[in-house]
Amino acid sequence: MLEEDGRESLTWTVIDVTDRHQLAKELAHQADHDALTGLPNRRALNEEIGEAMARATRHGSLLAVAILDLDGYKPINDAHGHEAGDSVLCIIAHRLRGVVRKTDFVARLGGDEFVLLVEDCADMDELEAVFAKIEVAVCASIVLPEKGAHVTVGLSMGVCLYSPTNEMGPDVLLRYADLALYQSKTHKADRSRYWARYGEAIPQRQNIYQRILAQGGVDVYYQPILNSRRGQIVGIEALARLLDHDGRIFYPEAFLPQLTLEDISNLGELVLSQALTDLAKLDALGWSLWISLNKAPAAFGDHCVSQMAGIIAASGIDPSRITVEILESSDFLEHHAALSVMHALKELGLHLALDDIGSGYASLLRLQELPVDKIKLDQGLIRALEARPQDLHFVRAIQDLAMELQVDLVVEGVEGLDILDAMITMGVPHLQGYAISRPLSFADLQQFLSCHELVDQKRPEGLFGCYAGSMVFHSTIKKMILLNPADLDRDALSDARRCEAHGVLSRLGYNDGSHLAGLHEAYHHALGKVAKLGLGAFNSPEWGAMEAAFAAFMDGILEEWGSRKAEKCVTPI
Ligand code: C2E
Ligand code: MG
Ligand code: MG
Repeated sequence: MLEEDGRESLTWTVIDVTDRHQLAKELAHQADHDALTGLPNRRALNEEIGEAMARATRHGSLLAVAILDLDGYKPINDAHGHEAGDSVLCIIAHRLRGVVRKTDFVARLGGDEFVLLVEDCADMDELEAVFAKIEVAVCASIVLPEKGAHVTVGLSMGVCLYSPTNEMGPDVLLRYADLALYQSKTHKADRSRYWARYGEAIPQRQNIYQRILAQGGVDVYYQPILNSRRGQIVGIEALARLLDHDGRIFYPEAFLPQLTLEDISNLGELVLSQALTDLAKLDALGWSLWISLNKAPAAFGDHCVSQMAGIIAASGIDPSRITVEILESSDFLEHHAALSVMHALKELGLHLALDDIGSGYASLLRLQELPVDKIKLDQGLIRALEARPQDLHFVRAIQDLAMELQVDLVVEGVEGLDILDAMITMGVPHLQGYAISRPLSFADLQQFLSCHELVDQKRPEGLFGCYAGSMVFHSTIKKMILLNPADLDRDALSDARRCEAHGVLSRLGYNDGSHLAGLHEAYHHALGKVAKLGLGAFNSPEWGAMEAAFAAFMDGILEEWGSRKAEKCVTPI
């Protein structure tokens, strides 16, 4: 007899030693049973398994050989001691015995490992019902008899089904069940059930994002893109969101790393068809925009181009209004296959953009070889411009590169009005960021488009824009001095009042006589001297003096900008 604390009652210790028959019986029992739990041991299992196989063959029924292993048993042993560990094993043994039928067999192999032979099941459903009961029984809370503490254990199980047709012997059955157990244990983090069947893939648990995706909880948000010259919204970027039924919204940063490539490719199709449907609705409302979609390069599978072609053809949208954004930050572009996908997309009539330029990878160097129509400057770089205004030089260099390669340039991460001012002043053609609009739901996008007005703002609007404009002026004028000085009006260059920045400074309240206007004048004075030297100016002391005067002017602008910002105590957008 087993009690709930699992120990066998001590009947065998009080046998009459003179009763040889009884003694032999007890010795045989000890040889076949585990002393701690009283369950049959490995030796008994070896005998029983052959008989169970023979019965299954005779009855044509299912026999499942299952090896079960406790999860979280060792920590209990470590924390509460071996006696407590023994109690847990005895209690689990008792529960297992209680949950299966009398005709089923439960043995302890040693340690925290048990074997079950479940017989006479008609089908897998019946067997799964038994496995469900086992899980409930094992995982229920355990009260340690010695301490009264509550502990719990989990379990993993490997199952091998016996089939008379495939001639497996008992050893093979056990080995396969053991392999399945190993599989189950190695997939503890992502398995959807505690048991694994030999020869079958482990059913994986869906994470929350996969579940939402499977339930169709995909929403597409749109971020407007501004044409800086026309002051008009000309395009939108489609950005995926996952919506849970309780109203939570998940962003790509959270869900993309948790999705498989197949999931991402399915998501891409959903986003594409939703975005094209919405684009057609905007057309009907009189807003004719182009649309950008993100494509994970790794999800460029075999059928990707044909699938996209199908969705685009069904939408009736002109493919030239669609841009596929490819993330620069991957080594995808190094692969030959990638190029052929890109060419195939171009053949469909789509435009291609290289996304997040400046975020770390070097495909910028390969830009010339790639069939791209657009480059998008990384938002991280743009957002940091206020802290690192000198990086405006990088924006300027990319602008030049885009012009040389005849590709469009979109700057992302235009988060504040100062950066917006700087980008417009510098003549960056397309802008995207919170200062224009955050990504919007389709309903909010329509609202935004109906309210967005063309404002003919004088540029630069503020000192940061003035800083950017002066930087562009200075680098352009230096190139002209070195390359074609004959085209320059040298007298005009030495007169600060004839420079555009003079008007800007007075508009911003820095009239002649102010410190900043003085720095501007000094710069032009130095510039005029250099311009007079022409081609030979580069190594002259005048050149050095001009650079120093320019640096002082630029520092002066930043200083004024900083103190005005501090005074204004700007509210975040
Ligand atoms: P991305 O393509 O570079 O998209 C721009 C991201 O910058 C968006 O984040 C947008 O909300 C954010 N952003 C735009 N302007 C500003 C700004 O001024 N300040 C700041 N702090 N952030 C700004 P989101 O929507 O979280 O998307 C993140 C990335 O996830 C995207 O970067 C894109 O690479 C990827 N992604 C989005 N939708 C999809 C999709 O449908 N499929 C795939 N494969 N990737 C997607
Ligand atoms: Mg993008
Ligand atoms: Mg981007």
